[in-house]
Amino acid sequence: MLENRIVDSFGRPLEYLRLSVTDRCNLRCFYCMPDERMKFLPKKELLSYEELGFVINELVGLGIKKLRITGGEPFVRRNMIGFLKGIVESHPELELGITSNGVLLGKHIKELKAIGIQKINLSLDSFDPSRFLRITARDDFQKVYGCLLDLIESGFQVKINCVVMKGVNDHEIPDFAEFARTFPVSIRFIEEMPFNGHGKQRGFLSYGQIKSILEEKYGTLDLQQAEISSSSFDFAPSGFEGSIGIIPAYTRSFCGSCNRIRISATGQMKTCLYGKNVLDLRGLIRSGKREEIKHMIINKYKVKEENGLQAEKGSELVSMSMIGG
Ligand code: SF4
Repeated sequence: MLENRIVDSFGRPLEYLRLSVTDRCNLRCFYCMPDERMKFLPKKELLSYEELGFVINELVGLGIKKLRITGGEPFVRRNMIGFLKGIVESHPELELGITSNGVLLGKHIKELKAIGIQKINLSLDSFDPSRFLRITARDDFQKVYGCLLDLIESGFQVKINCVVMKGVNDHEIPDFAEFARTFPVSIRFIEEMPFNGHGKQRGFLSYGQIKSILEEKYGTLDLQQAEISSSSFDFAPSGFEGSIGIIPAYTRSFCGSCNRIRISATGQMKTCLYGKNVLDLRGLIRSGKREEIKHMIINKYKVKEENGLQAEKGSELVSMSMIGG
């Protein structure tokens, strides 16, 4: 009988799956995609919805409580709403969230509400349309901003993920923070990571530097109690409708409570974002070895890397769109 609580050698339980459903995206953020020549994978190389559903069932059977659907951009994949509806119907107990860039999401807000999906992480790095264009190589700011306001008005739990880069958008940190004064959203400032196909950050600003910029404006920020495995350090200055947080995604000072694994759209499992692929689920599924998968996931999770710094050694830093964030 398989135990329903998988714990790694550091006592961290497996509770959270970040599942990518596509490597494709309709934006070209320079800190993620090398450039326009990005080659996307043929459809047959991606897990089908049936295979993705099977993987989710297996992981739920192993005790995951939280599932985040990521990409590339999930809504560039056809019939995404149908797939999400299926997850909610099969696993109503799961805490289900989606990470999206908001370009296509707006037209699905009513359907998402009807399915009962509440948690949306929206990637947005600038409130300035021309800077948005420079960062993403697409002129879609108005669509994303409109989607953001519609999500808030429709009562979704919205987190805005803003990758902060020196000399690019760091001067907008106060504008983003002020947005959380007015609206009930959680702004998360994310350290730039080297998952851009060439491994070099454009303008790295650390957790400490981002916090100093915020404290220049708001004074000393008191850390809020967060979910034990949260990667965000959150603050709620007085008078704010929402909150502001910082994710030290490159400093990696939160690995001690890491409870997640990632599975890419091609079925490659990682026990750490910075680590190597540790298991080829697609290969197992397509070679008729579905019954072996649970055991193999358990064995790989038990030897999960201690932290992202250790995991990065000898690991290739590909584009985030290939991993799923
Ligand atoms: S860097 Fe790796 S170990 Fe650390 S929190 Fe991220 S996935 Fe977990």
